[in-house]
Amino acid sequence: MPKNWLKGVNSAYDTIIIGSGLGGMTAGNLLAKLGHRVLILEHHYNFGGLATWFKRKGGHILDISLHGFPIGMIKTCRKYWSKEVADSIVRLKNIRFDNPQFSFGTTFDKEDFTQLMRDRFGVLRETVDDFFTTVRGMNFFDDLSMTTRDLFEKFFPGRNDIHRLLMEPITYANGSTLNDPAITYGIVFSNFMDKGVYTFKGGTDQLIKKMKKELKKNGVDVRNHCLVDKILIEDKVVKGVRVNGREIYSDAVLSNSNILSTINKLAGREHFSPGFLEEVSKVRLNDSSCQVYIGIRKGETIPNVGDLLFTSEEEEFTSEALLEPRTKSRTFSFYYPETRPGLNQYAIVSSTNARYSDWADLDETEYMRKKDELVKETLDCLEKYVPDVRSKIDHLEASTPTTFKRYTRHPGGVSFGTKFEGLKVSKDLPGQIAGLFHAGSVGIIMSGWLGAANYGVIVANEVDKFLRSVRKPEEKLEIVNV
Ligand SMILES: Cc1cc2nc3c(=O)[nH]c(=O)nc-3n(C[C@H](O)[C@H](O)[C@H](O)COP(=O)(O)OP(=O)(O)OC[C@H]3O[C@@H](n4cnc5c(N)ncnc54)[C@H](O)[C@@H]3O)c2cc1C
Repeated sequence: MPKNWLKGVNSAYDTIIIGSGLGGMTAGNLLAKLGHRVLILEHHYNFGGLATWFKRKGGHILDISLHGFPIGMIKTCRKYWSKEVADSIVRLKNIRFDNPQFSFGTTFDKEDFTQLMRDRFGVLRETVDDFFTTVRGMNFFDDLSMTTRDLFEKFFPGRNDIHRLLMEPITYANGSTLNDPAITYGIVFSNFMDKGVYTFKGGTDQLIKKMKKELKKNGVDVRNHCLVDKILIEDKVVKGVRVNGREIYSDAVLSNSNILSTINKLAGREHFSPGFLEEVSKVRLNDSSCQVYIGIRKGETIPNVGDLLFTSEEEEFTSEALLEPRTKSRTFSFYYPETRPGLNQYAIVSSTNARYSDWADLDETEYMRKKDELVKETLDCLEKYVPDVRSKIDHLEASTPTTFKRYTRHPGGVSFGTKFEGLKVSKDLPGQIAGLFHAGSVGIIMSGWLGAANYGVIVANEVDKFLRSVRKPEEKLEIVNV
């Protein structure tokens, strides 16, 4: 008999959340704290969505999808999770760049970047200050026609080296390119420049375990191995979801699944107006990723070569080159024993941005060949920084856009949701179907760990307002425990 992952689930909730990414979980926690009955349904065995980890033989724990997030995550976690979660966030001090145009370490904050741009790149102090004031002042309502390329050309014309310094790390964090609206860059870059780059001490496994504990404490029903295949809608009103062959009812459904999957597959296009579908057709998915997970044998050590290394052999920076399957640009995240106290082991994760189309239609042999090539080229590059690293490794594996698709169900295995236009569609969803909401990586600015979590908060407040508007507390749906 297959296990019944819905055993004991209620017949109805106030809100059902589809997906346990940081957007879904943060929304779920806030809604529960606001007094609503919440069910989170996650199809994967693990929680966290892209913010997750896996274990392998040899004592390895390997994190997925994290280089770092801005300081704002501390406030978000303290306010919407717990002091314990917030107190585990620590700063990454040693961030390195190494490419044919420049090579140095940085604390990745405004003060250090100002000094670097002046002393190393020879930019006038006034220009640097003007640039920081401009990006800091950017907001959602600004002119969209200016691209990040235009912004850089305005302040640093023809300075591909400065464009690389400013853009490359942000591309790895949220998939944005020189062609995206400058406001998406300005908002995200300013967040990082505030006080540098942060991570979670203890690793993603500890973070998600703490979040799960908090969800349970606040009464959220959290289920894994539960794939939602339909959002139930009648006369443009949400009724609940179908999950693992069962119907469960709710007044609101918040989807943390990709916005296009939510509309086209889970809800069904027949429920939306032609004008809205026209907007939906213009939404472009963002890119995906490849990663190589490198476990260092217990007892072996590696020197401290920085926390985060942005390395490239490309002579000049282009956004496109970062996506090539045989890209010469990658980031390395180094996990030293102090990252996961108690484990006393080292690990390294390499990340590259990637296009789904370069990996999706390969036959098995070609796919495996390309994966082996990715691993080999990653190790060749790593050996420049950690000599003889190959002899210290006892676990190696790689993920590609098809891996990300399998585990998250996101179309194109997207790591960073959609381009900017997706945000409006996400926000307009409840105007089409009463009680249907979306939160999660979308529109670049609501992407990444902090963006997804903060969007979860924004949308949870909308859901709360909606639930309060549709009925009084004593009129709650009748619940049967099954
Ligand atoms: C390689 C890589 C590097 C990254 N680096 C950074 C970084 O340095 N800094 C940063 O801030 N961000 C980074 N990110 C991005 C960041 O991890 C994501 O933006 C963020 O975690 C997304 O959260 P989310 O709420 O959108 O949901 P997701 O993490 O996308 O989770 C959605 C969840 O919904 C579930 N789901 C989908 N459909 C269904 C369904 N029908 N039924 C049930 N469950 C469903 C999925 O299984 C998944 O668990 C990186 C991502 C990758 C891949």
